[in-house]
Amino acid sequence: MRCDDLDDVIEALAEGDTLSAEYHAHVAGCSRCQARLAMARAVDRLLATREAPVPPAAFTFRVMERVGRAEWRAEQLVDVGFNVAVAAGIALVVAGVVGLAWSLGWLTVERPTLEAVGAAIEPWVSSTLARGPTVVLAALLLTSALGLWWWVEGEASL
Ligand SMILES: [Zn+2]
Repeated sequence: MRCDDLDDVIEALAEGDTLSAEYHAHVAGCSRCQARLAMARAVDRLLATREAPVPPAAFTFRVMERVGRAEWRAEQLVDVGFNVAVAAGIALVVAGVVGLAWSLGWLTVERPTLEAVGAAIEPWVSSTLARGPTVVLAALLLTSALGLWWWVEGEASL
């Protein structure tokens, strides 16, 4: 046995663990390993005299809460990705069906039909445009409210 073979077990020997007789025999006959063992025991004694810091009362609860929150966020990200993929798939299927119907000539739109649709939505479009500043203000309020909500959610998770 060589001195290097004791590198991984010197701490166990210092703590008084019983290992195979080969280790003990080597230490008994090797002054270098006796010195290493004495040093490891001295370190153990020194560490034993030091006061171990006491964690706060809610330490475990807080750590587990953070772990749970991190897992929840990861699952949420996977859910969002899954939903986006499903929506993209549905949009692709719908576009394919519409494209097929269009190519088969089932979706021909006559000009009078387009004009009728335009005439039907024209009052709604012009009234919305007339209320432009109100619509823009409402959009800004909604955006800032959503942004604030998002920010608070991010702060609460810290
Ligand atoms: Zn040795």
